[in-house]
Amino acid sequence: MTNRTMQPSRALTLWRGLRRKCPRCGAGKLFRRWFHMVPDCPSCHLHFEREPGYWVGAVAINTMVIGILFTILLVVFSAMTVPDIPWVPLLMAEIPLMGLGPIAFYPYSKTLWVALDRAFLSHL
Ligand SMILES: [Zn+2]
Repeated sequence: MTNRTMQPSRALTLWRGLRRKCPRCGAGKLFRRWFHMVPDCPSCHLHFEREPGYWVGAVAINTMVIGILFTILLVVFSAMTVPDIPWVPLLMAEIPLMGLGPIAFYPYSKTLWVALDRAFLSHL
């Protein structure tokens, strides 16, 4: 087994995924544009989409992260303004998060999904 095919630790795999790096080798430049991920790692040639429908996991991660952020902001600002919670301004302020958050998090969700898959779900 060469260094290119060795499986890094789960923590390192996830750390690389959070930074939009290849979870296996840590190489960058996995995106040609914000929404266009290369099919294979340019360094270790790991093929990212293992099967049709593979990216549903990335969509789930993206949805969960943005939903959690929405909930945290809602709870924190509600708690700060009790008993007169400004619901309409609060929800209006959350609209940009819900609209732009998934777009901003898109590439991270994809590399994080590959990292989670490699760290916990697959042993390839
Ligand atoms: Zn790689």
